[in-house]
Amino acid sequence: MSSLTTDVLIVGAGPTGLLLAGDLAARGVAVTVLERRGQESNLTRAFAVHARTLEQLDARGLADQLVATGQRLGELRVFGDVSIDLSRLPSRFPFLLVTPQYETEQLLEDRAKALGVDLVTGAEVVGLRQDADGVEVDVRGADGSTRVRRASYLVGADGVQSTVRRALGLPFPGHSAVQSVMLADVRLAEPPRDVLTVNGVRDGFAFIAPFGDGWYRVIAWDRRRQLPDDAPVDLDEIRVIARQALGTDFGMHDARWLSRFHSDERQAPRYRVGRVFLAGDAAHVHSPAGGQGMNIGLQDAANLGWKLAAAVTGHAPDGLLDTYHAERHPVGRMVLRTSGGLLRLAQLRPWLLRAFRNLVAGRVTRIGPAARRMAGVISGIGIRYAAPRGAHPLVGTRAPDVALAGDGAARLYEALRSGRFVLVARQAASIDAQVDVVTPAEPTTTMLVRPDGYVAWATDDPQATPDRAALAGWLRA
Ligand SMILES: Cc1cc2nc3c(=O)[nH]c(=O)nc-3n(C[C@H](O)[C@H](O)[C@H](O)COP(=O)(O)OP(=O)(O)OC[C@H]3O[C@@H](n4cnc5c(N)ncnc54)[C@H](O)[C@@H]3O)c2cc1C
Repeated sequence: MSSLTTDVLIVGAGPTGLLLAGDLAARGVAVTVLERRGQESNLTRAFAVHARTLEQLDARGLADQLVATGQRLGELRVFGDVSIDLSRLPSRFPFLLVTPQYETEQLLEDRAKALGVDLVTGAEVVGLRQDADGVEVDVRGADGSTRVRRASYLVGADGVQSTVRRALGLPFPGHSAVQSVMLADVRLAEPPRDVLTVNGVRDGFAFIAPFGDGWYRVIAWDRRRQLPDDAPVDLDEIRVIARQALGTDFGMHDARWLSRFHSDERQAPRYRVGRVFLAGDAAHVHSPAGGQGMNIGLQDAANLGWKLAAAVTGHAPDGLLDTYHAERHPVGRMVLRTSGGLLRLAQLRPWLLRAFRNLVAGRVTRIGPAARRMAGVISGIGIRYAAPRGAHPLVGTRAPDVALAGDGAARLYEALRSGRFVLVARQAASIDAQVDVVTPAEPTTTMLVRPDGYVAWATDDPQATPDRAALAGWLRA
């Protein structure tokens, strides 16, 4: 056994691990990603990239490239005539992007590699220990040999069956949300007009999304055929439920892949144990309704990256690393609740309940503040972190992408590409070596924005700048 040492080890090269790795490397942190798979790419599960994720990618100069790979949807159809209007989101991305998960992963992998991340494939983590100074893992290579790797910190981004979570002895409490969901990748003789096609009926639901290359992903659930995950899937089963839910099977043929799965709603009670963190599906999993799993994982990574980099480079004040769990665990809990609620609505059976659902939910999702709140939750734009008592109302919220004056960045999210804190202030004055100062093009609230695009401090007094007390929780002097 030989031992290799780095600053941060990330277990799992899914979307969560890849974004985190790039963020750490961009801040000069030495990162190794250990991925069990060989060269073959991850199975595409997610198709939805929401507005807040696109904003996070925009703050890394990646959003426009990803948007070019897919199709935009201004409205997310949940079932029947119930849909969530995204077109009025206060964002540069007032839509849901439909693009297969491998496009997101490819972009993040290319970025991580270009920034010098060491991505080791065919490397399965099989054991983990930590002490006061670091974390050690046993890694089994493709040839069966095992070697030890050590790092100051480790992040388990190793998916729902997380070896890291188990090695920490953490439970994963929750329950099964839906059984016997069928997946198929097919060609369609008569493709649908809508980008996403979805509906639920008495006996099940069906969903169709395009890969963009002539192939389509179909997800179907038949209430009357509840079988174990390993029961084979026949394309005819999917055709039947598609015809019931969508009125047609769109001439499905040539299935290149068929599978059956069940979906759980579970969440780890802690996202940090000592020097080890959990992120993405390793920390929380829920039904695919609302298409939020990958998005929430990417936002976990965006929250953790700058904090972990600050810890490695000696810039983290006491307690900064604990804010990762404090901020992201409640978001995971909320997503479990909303995606579970959407799924249960889609599964309601008696016709009366269904009529009630279509009437009430239809109103709720289209009109007024409730509609805006729903769009904010689903898109991630409405996520806010807890703020200290008496703080300005903007503290903890997502920073709006304000236009900037001067020769530098034209917008706040361009300025955030430095990976640093940004002070948006009319009276531009340097306050700390770790903070970039920019001037808004129009009068606006003075804001100190964290590297992940959330407001750390704000004031309506145009003369004021953050004092040491305001910075203390986020930056070490
Ligand atoms: C049918 C379906 C549809 C979905 N649709 C959407 C959607 O539209 N939008 C959305 O946001 N989300 C969706 N999701 C959820 C989304 O796919 C996941 O949330 C996302 O893939 C999680 O990313 P991750 O990086 O956390 O984990 P994963 O993508 O699971 O990646 C984990 C990686 O860790 C590796 N690994 C595991 N164990 C080890 C080990 N011991 N050592 C080394 N490597 C290891 C794995 O090989 C894998 O590459 C859907 C899920 C399903 C099932």
